[in-house]
Amino acid sequence: MHFSKLRLTGFKSFVDPTDLIINDGLTGVVGPNGCGKSNLLEALRWVMGENRPTAMRGGGMEDVIFAGAKSRPARNFAEVALSIDNSERLAPAAFNDSDTLDVIRRITRDVGSAYQVNGKDVRARDVQMLFADASTGAHSPALVRQGQISELINAKPKARRRILEEAAGISGLYQRRHEAELK
Ligand code: ATP
Ligand code: MG
Repeated sequence: MHFSKLRLTGFKSFVDPTDLIINDGLTGVVGPNGCGKSNLLEALRWVMGENRPTAMRGGGMEDVIFAGAKSRPARNFAEVALSIDNSERLAPAAFNDSDTLDVIRRITRDVGSAYQVNGKDVRARDVQMLFADASTGAHSPALVRQGQISELINAKPKARRRILEEAAGISGLYQRRHEAELK
């Protein structure tokens, strides 16, 4: 599975619809301080189901919605759409019936988040499991936050093990076991 496009609408500083095309190979994002580079990575994490406002550098989840600027009023919703090339059909079974997966998350003020995969309403959990089974997701070690390298160096062994499990693709199993134990 290959991420092919990220579209941000009303997400943080990206007030107008903005497409980031992700080609094969390395994609670099460069720009001056404060231009929105970290916001892009946060959008990617958010559409994969991140639910901790602190991971978005916010106090509440609605803080991801464009908050307004001198010349532009605030928005009422934010939306991030992630297109995934699934032509090799490596997606988890429940989603493996098309060449492209379009995952959309939208948050509306006072309403909350809603998710869709290929136009169908799904739960947050479905999206989180989709990415966990594909060995990626909001907590994937492939996404390295600013300042996270020093955190990793200082991590305790247990925390390091979680990173290895994530990389080995078994964190989806852990989530299912945890849910089974709660039932
Ligand atoms: P650096 O190089 O310093 O790491 P960066 O390119 O990573 O910078 P970001 O941190 O992604 O920059 O972007 C910060 C900008 O996003 C700030 O100007 C901030 O005001 C803006 N921003 C964050 N949240 C919102 C929001 N909800 N509404 C409007 N603008 C926002
Ligand atoms: Mg940054």
